Amino acid sequence: MPLIHLLTTLSLLMGISQPPPIYQQMEYIMGSLCHIEVYGLPTPKLKSAVQSAFAEMRRLEQVMSDYRPDSELNQVTRQAHLKPVVLSSDLYQVLAMAQQIAVHSGGAFDITVGPLVKLWGFKQKSLSAHPPPTAHQIQAQLKLVGYRHIHLTAHPPTLKLQQPGIQLDLGGIGKGYAVDRAMATLQRAGIRQAMIDFNSNQAFIGAPPGQTQWQSAIKHPRHTAQVLAVLSIQDRSVSTSGDYEQFFTWQGQRYSHIIDPRNGYPIKQAVTATVVHASGMIADALSTSLLVISPLEARKLLAKYQPLQAYWMRNTGKQTRWESLL
Ligand code: AMP
Ligand code: MG
Repeated sequence: MPLIHLLTTLSLLMGISQPPPIYQQMEYIMGSLCHIEVYGLPTPKLKSAVQSAFAEMRRLEQVMSDYRPDSELNQVTRQAHLKPVVLSSDLYQVLAMAQQIAVHSGGAFDITVGPLVKLWGFKQKSLSAHPPPTAHQIQAQLKLVGYRHIHLTAHPPTLKLQQPGIQLDLGGIGKGYAVDRAMATLQRAGIRQAMIDFNSNQAFIGAPPGQTQWQSAIKHPRHTAQVLAVLSIQDRSVSTSGDYEQFFTWQGQRYSHIIDPRNGYPIKQAVTATVVHASGMIADALSTSLLVISPLEARKLLAKYQPLQAYWMRNTGKQTRWESLL
């Protein structure tokens, strides 16, 4: 008998248990690395479930990308100022939730922010220091911004845009939706213990072997090698947004990729925000919104999406600390 089989047989006879099978895989999707880790079934089943989850995410990239000229989002946007255009169920669901959160956040979350994100230089492949746009340029782009320019119907699912030139940007909500669909794919394949770590969006079901919950570490926004907090999570998604994800500095002033669509300028006070919710799509949109809105508006917005947990760190000139919002 080969040595390895002999050792396995001996360990079984002696009652030494084998570690439970784990399967993990990483892929680069939607401009970010995504890591999926699953347990609880034989390895071939784990592997095939993870591969289906990644296939689902790649499919959704083709639906929601604003970088790919042939994505469903871009094809639809090009025609929707002329007539209502029929949407896939995925795109409809994301646009409908984006619109709902736009209303509840008083326009702080707004997927028509695309022209401003571009004007501030955040749609280029590499981001370098550059002078901020002028007030005149910002005013010109603001004419194309406003969630009220979007008209959706549910039956059939259609989109109509009020004017040409509107650019929809799902950067604040799409990854959360992709994580929801990937997790649903894993669950359909019988997986009950899984973690998806998609950069600033994570989702967890069950718990890893021998544990009762998953641990989600939140990066410190200014010292990114440090952990700011560790959350214990089960069957929930976690989304973190931060001014550190993309920014440039010009004459000592920091300009971040999250723009207040109501005035056209990058956010100033909030540094990072984290939301824990059953829906990854909602967690994603809320964490982005929290960077834009005031404490009073934040409480009103969060009240609409209970149950949830929410935390943020704001730079008010006084003490900057990580605090729970509820
Ligand atoms: P997130 O990392 O989820 O907070 O999303 C950040 C991305 O959302 C940015 O890179 C922009 O593409 C987009 N974005 C920026 N400002 C807003 C806003 N006020 N509302 C909705 N999306 C935004
Ligand atoms: Mg977001």
